[in-house]
Amino acid sequence: MQTIIEPFRIKSVEPIYFTTKEERETILRAAHFNTFRIKARDVLIDLLTDSGTSAMSSNQWAGIMQGDESYAGSESFFRFENSVRSITNMPYIIPTHQGRASEKIIFSILGGKGKYFISNTLFDTTRANIEFSGAEGIDCICEEGKHPTIPAPFKGNMDTVLLQKTIEQVGAENIPLIIMTITNNSGGGQPVSMQNLREVKAICKQYKIPLYIDACRFAENAYFIKIREEGYAQKPIPEIVREMFSYADGCTMSAKKDAFANIGGFLAMHDLDLALRCRNLLIITEGFTTYGGLAGRDLEAIAIGLQEIMDEHYLQYRIRSMEYLTEKLANAGVPVMQPAGGHAVYLDAKQFLPNIPANQYPGQALVCALYTHGGIRAVEIGSLMFGKYDEAGKLIPAQLELVRLAIPRRVYTQSHIDYVAEVIIEVFEKRDQISGLKIIEETPLLRHFTAKLKPVEN
Ligand SMILES: *Cc1c(COP(=O)(O)O)cnc(C)c1O
Repeated sequence: MQTIIEPFRIKSVEPIYFTTKEERETILRAAHFNTFRIKARDVLIDLLTDSGTSAMSSNQWAGIMQGDESYAGSESFFRFENSVRSITNMPYIIPTHQGRASEKIIFSILGGKGKYFISNTLFDTTRANIEFSGAEGIDCICEEGKHPTIPAPFKGNMDTVLLQKTIEQVGAENIPLIIMTITNNSGGGQPVSMQNLREVKAICKQYKIPLYIDACRFAENAYFIKIREEGYAQKPIPEIVREMFSYADGCTMSAKKDAFANIGGFLAMHDLDLALRCRNLLIITEGFTTYGGLAGRDLEAIAIGLQEIMDEHYLQYRIRSMEYLTEKLANAGVPVMQPAGGHAVYLDAKQFLPNIPANQYPGQALVCALYTHGGIRAVEIGSLMFGKYDEAGKLIPAQLELVRLAIPRRVYTQSHIDYVAEVIIEVFEKRDQISGLKIIEETPLLRHFTAKLKPVEN
């Protein structure tokens, strides 16, 4: 097979800055071993997130100039609304400044003490917004999804037996929504099958619970369905996307992911009454209903990006990029999540650093090693992000200890990725020299963003 090439050429470039290993050691210490605290300029290859980091197309930049900045009823809003509607087929579309703003609105309205939201896996901001409302979030990921290195085509699927059991346990009347995160970000960017969406929808119908999609990576998910699920190989991506959304009563979206935008998001739904309540809250917290915390030009970028992302050449290149890095690492014996996810490559830190226990945050220790060794910024998705404490103050570790290398869309070339693979393999060969970390300062919610840590002395 021929090499799958980047389906674009580069019109404008941005320099990256080199540092020495010694400089990076000093920088990391000053940042209290938390890479969120490092200046972006001190990072060589930034794989912290694929969120808001996409390279926009010349069309999107042209759209930016067309932005209509009218406060109410701007042209840009209607183009945005049409674009979102063409994908979701939902009548009520509410722009927000990013995904978590949509979450804040919907969970403030539907959440509260005694309520439960069930998902395949809730993303960290989603869970935080649920818990902030006083409600509880419950993950019902399928068995395959719990084993990072065992291959399966749809490791993001909901465990439907567990879902039904959980509904019976907490009572359908206490579950305002069931949420399918596609692809499953915290579970490794793994896709959800159409079959699973259909089955979850049937359960939702049976118990009269609305089904929402956390749609951040809807296009990547659709491409996985196309190449992995029987009956979809010949279907165009927009058709697969429409079928996915046909099972949903509503969705939340961060346009910083599968819309190639640097900022933005939306809420969309079929329920008019709920939409009116959301709009009321939107006006208080985000802005008027036709801009919701965004500039007209942002709405344009999103409207165009949402259509561009469904290009099959792009999606093929995108998914292949993750496989390429995964294969290189797996061939060198590095424990890496398999198969590759849609937007990121995940290292299994439990296996990478078996001598570092969960309460010494093996994932974060690996993140720090990748930065010092090669200037690569990754993110821990493990006990630093999701760990909790029991009543005695003992850490309840996360199920998985992962390190995510999120790949910004259309930003890095193959040689950048080759360099990343080399650095990881070198760190793997020297893994015995890596020590664990302990937290010296933290906040109660989303602590990983700001926590301060220090190495554990052996
Ligand atoms: C990024 C993300 C969010 C939150 O979106 P923001 O734009 O970062 O606020 C919610 N869910 C998933 C699955 C995400 O990846």
